[in-house]
Amino acid sequence: DQIDLARLSSLRELLQTHGFQFKKQLGQNFLVDARVLERIVDAADLIPGDGVFEIGPGAGVVTQVLAQQATQVVAVEKDRALAPVLDTSLAGLNNVKVVYADVLDVNLNEVWNEFSNCARVSVVANLPYYVTTPILFHLLESGVPLHNVVVMVQKEVADRLVSGPGTKDYGALSVAVQYYAEVDKVLRVHPGAFIPPPNVESEVVRLRVRKQPAVIVPDQTLFFRVVRAGFAMRRKTLLNNLSHSFGFTKPDCEHLLLCTGIEPRRRGETLSLDEFARLTSAIYEKLH
Ligand code: SAM
Repeated sequence: DQIDLARLSSLRELLQTHGFQFKKQLGQNFLVDARVLERIVDAADLIPGDGVFEIGPGAGVVTQVLAQQATQVVAVEKDRALAPVLDTSLAGLNNVKVVYADVLDVNLNEVWNEFSNCARVSVVANLPYYVTTPILFHLLESGVPLHNVVVMVQKEVADRLVSGPGTKDYGALSVAVQYYAEVDKVLRVHPGAFIPPPNVESEVVRLRVRKQPAVIVPDQTLFFRVVRAGFAMRRKTLLNNLSHSFGFTKPDCEHLLLCTGIEPRRRGETLSLDEFARLTSAIYEKLH
């Protein structure tokens, strides 16, 4: 039988037995709330035949439950000191493979070979907050087929991920992630749900990855460059930010915006994905 790690006393005992010390710099806040655990796994909407890629299994609290519901689980943990802990908590679960590495160094296309028996693959992760954005992009840009991505993130990041044009939290991160996925909030989580408690509020979000990106662009790298340029200085107009970033003269840039049907004095934060895509096409034409 598995140790019930969602019970605080069992988790503490397991960590103590192996002399484990939390490393703040690795974003180690382990979940000890059974209700939150249930909501995270439910959001992944797993069925037999599914594969799950977990980032940062920690002591294996979430991993145990994933292994019961999915066909194959691959978990990547950076901290090797957790190996004896995970060997104990995951003992007897023969559909889990733990890889000790920094997830940013992992070639996801290679890992996906482990999922050859799986109809679809989702990601579940209680993320280390210091690398949330690089990890999301590592996943989304890898091109591996993803079904749901259920992640616990800092509340402020969750707000940015779901925000639309014209709101204060809308920025380059919102546009870039919404290009790949439909995003919705699942659950707000208070610091007391973890040991040790983090200094920030958390939120679970779900990314339902699109089969095709939300908009069609002639060059994806250019699209992301246009988006970053659009938000470069939030208080400046598109005209200013774009002419500065791309080295266009003001009149040229004004002309380009007007031809795209975008008022040059608008700010980047008011542009929809579709408008950023049209702008990318216009800049692409101008550069080629
Ligand atoms: N999943 C566990 C839970 O819910 O209790 C632990 C979550 S804890 C917030 C984040 C985990 O990610 C830690 O175990 C940490 O060691 C691991 N981690 C931190 N940086 C990582 C990286 N770059 N690659 C892989 N794992 C990482």
